[in-house]
Amino acid sequence: MKIAVAKGDGIGPEIMDAVLKIFDANQVPLEYVTVDMGKWVFDKGFSNGMTPESQHVIEDLGILFKGPMETPKGKGVKSVNVTARKTWNTYANKRVFQTLFGVDTVFSKAGIPIDITIVRENIEDTYGGIEHMLTHDVALSRRFITRPGSLQVIKYAFEMAKKKNAKRITCGHKANIMKITDGLFLECFYEVAKEYPELKADDVIVDDLCMKLVTRPDYFDVVVLTNLQGDIVSDLCAGLVGGLGFAPSANIGDHICIFEAVHGTAPDIAGKNIANPTALLLSGITMLRHLGFMRNAATIENALLYTLENGIHTGDFGDKSIKSVNTTQFAEAIISNLGKMPVHGAKPMLENMTMTPTNFKLDKNPMLVSKEMEDEQIAGVDLFIESSEQPEMIAKKCERHAGVKFKMVSISNRGTQVWPTGSVYTNLVNQYNVRFESLDGEPLNQQDVIGLYVSLSGNFKICSSELLNMWGDKKAYSLAQGQ
Ligand code: NAD
Repeated sequence: MKIAVAKGDGIGPEIMDAVLKIFDANQVPLEYVTVDMGKWVFDKGFSNGMTPESQHVIEDLGILFKGPMETPKGKGVKSVNVTARKTWNTYANKRVFQTLFGVDTVFSKAGIPIDITIVRENIEDTYGGIEHMLTHDVALSRRFITRPGSLQVIKYAFEMAKKKNAKRITCGHKANIMKITDGLFLECFYEVAKEYPELKADDVIVDDLCMKLVTRPDYFDVVVLTNLQGDIVSDLCAGLVGGLGFAPSANIGDHICIFEAVHGTAPDIAGKNIANPTALLLSGITMLRHLGFMRNAATIENALLYTLENGIHTGDFGDKSIKSVNTTQFAEAIISNLGKMPVHGAKPMLENMTMTPTNFKLDKNPMLVSKEMEDEQIAGVDLFIESSEQPEMIAKKCERHAGVKFKMVSISNRGTQVWPTGSVYTNLVNQYNVRFESLDGEPLNQQDVIGLYVSLSGNFKICSSELLNMWGDKKAYSLAQGQ
């Protein structure tokens, strides 16, 4: 089987060489096709950090094993790591965090075992990077949470939890505050949960989740979260098991999967042959299991666990009274331990399985539509305007534009209502949201809204606008704080 390999920047080539040497020593039946991705490709003028030939190879082979890659600073370019995950719709980011004997943490010392899998949505959320300055003082980021996108990642999380015989699957969220976006994600979670009655499904607000993860990490099994919250919570979990040097990651899509370590290029130690290859090795082991090479995966993981148990360590972890080894020596120690079984957490030696290859060649983009609402009506519009005037003055100026179709119902500033009621203690910035609704409660059309827009633009710079949609009697928008 052929896979694409990108060694990456910084410590990438050192740790990738170490991992591939271990794979070769175990005669992993893989052939590696090296692809061009990373900082040096940006520097050659490829604005997305990869050459078109590399893109073709990865799309043909369907598997990318990659080292960390640097995003050039201040050149207006986007991270090649994020571009790769998004372009190829690797919608689920799976990160497994488990106690490794020989890697001391407060929990291992207290005898509290950790085995947590975080599944992070990998495409949506604020990672769309859709951001605008509305005024010179006000920046806006759009956060996309979609029903099909949420269902995709949540279904993967449940399926994976079932396969690993998990006892519990938890949704981390902030639906108490972000009722529409996180509320949608949570709704999808419980919708999918109905199909898996054998799994205990529950939810925890993300701040409470962080507190509970550091007090009782052993209470959690599989946790699924939206993109940004998942990013933060997974780094927290990396800290629980000894740091980023032990955090593997798999980016799972239906057609293309990317396996990489969570950590970056570690420029401070690059080129010194002292980096810890464990996270990349664990990512590679996850990839081997994904491809059906169960026996190779177990043999290599057992050799790694045996090596760690015996106190062999790179400089970033382990017993400081035992001299550390460099990257190459660490890999050689693992190679010499192939075939040995660790005392703690030995992996069962399953047989390799033949996997049916997926047909990677799609001829068009799949449209993800899970539910279309038929009874949608426009009930009003939010117009975001720039102004440094006080709310009463804005209300006076806006009211005369309402005409016969609209009434002005609220003005808010940074999400807090400041008109018709409000407080002088609310600090204001120079951008308001003026909410107009249908005067008589009758549905509006887009022309009505455009008419209002044109009229109001005579008085104010309109920075942005959003329709207020009703689905039956359900509001498809949030209220301002205090409205
Ligand atoms: P980093 O993860 O590279 O380094 C943070 C700290 O951890 C450093 O002190 C580093 O020495 C240490 N460290 C990381 N990996 C290690 C390892 N395997 N062994 C020993 N020590 C290790 O994070 P950063 O410094 O914020 O980022 C550096 C670059 O990496 C940036 O350009 C960033 O964009 C990129 N990055 C890439 C990825 C990726 O490719 N998926 C992920 C994160 C950051």
